[in-house]
Amino acid sequence: LLDVNNVSIGFADTKPMQMVVNNISFQVDQGEILGIVGESGSGKSMTALSIMGLHKDTARITSGEIRVEGNNLLSMSENQKRSYLGKEIAMVFQEPMTSLNPVMKIGDQVSEMLAIHTRLSRKEQKEKTLEALFEVGLNNPEELYNKYPHELSGGMRQRVMIAMAMICKPKILIADEPTTALDVSVQAQILALLKKMNKEHGVSIILISHDLGVIRTMCERTIVMSQGKIVEQGLVEDIFRNPKQEYTKKLIDAVP
Ligand code: ATP
Ligand code: MG
Repeated sequence: LLDVNNVSIGFADTKPMQMVVNNISFQVDQGEILGIVGESGSGKSMTALSIMGLHKDTARITSGEIRVEGNNLLSMSENQKRSYLGKEIAMVFQEPMTSLNPVMKIGDQVSEMLAIHTRLSRKEQKEKTLEALFEVGLNNPEELYNKYPHELSGGMRQRVMIAMAMICKPKILIADEPTTALDVSVQAQILALLKKMNKEHGVSIILISHDLGVIRTMCERTIVMSQGKIVEQGLVEDIFRNPKQEYTKKLIDAVP
């Protein structure tokens, strides 16, 4: 479904270019939840953003291919990309507060996704939005529709982000540390919600975390990143049983 081939990412404003992702390759299969685990700064978010066709300021993909169902994202026109991103691939960002617009009503933000990607009428957009909010466990969507992000708890905001990402029924959902900012009981709820989305909608998920314990509860297969490289990949259980790198052992020891 998704094929990342020899992708490298660097920052263009330094000479020589400072590389933060080096020659990584991996695949995501239809219907799976693939983990990306690694310590802070290992390049997880940069990898995720590049798959979304987004990047931080001066970051550049310097080589490689990112294919979604065979189509190389890196050679698409801006127009093709726009119709792809958000629709075929969607992302839940690491910082939910910064990716929601603080001065726009929750309902309007979610339905804007439909306005961009579909030809539904205003009325249909609203209906779909209410359904999507309900679907992610927000039980009072009518009331929530007119609220602003700061009026919600962190867990509710994260649910809104998932509703927004899922509303156009993408094939791939990238969840970048979706639970890091949340307390433990809410973390479990959000992970359960992602699992439900995977089971019931068949969306393939890339789950990014620095916690191998989270990856173990959610994923069958994972890649392990360190300093911009993939140092290990395979079945999570195999990695737990027989870690090939000192670095991976440390990640295992850090599991609570
Ligand atoms: P975290 O777990 O903290 O989210 P991460 O694995 O997502 O970490 P990335 O955000 O992908 O890490 O960052 C990868 C590397 O890119 C880091 O070493 C970071 O220092 C570097 N980096 C990020 N932004 C910039 C920037 N604007 N200019 C130069 N280097 C940057
Ligand atoms: Mg990150």
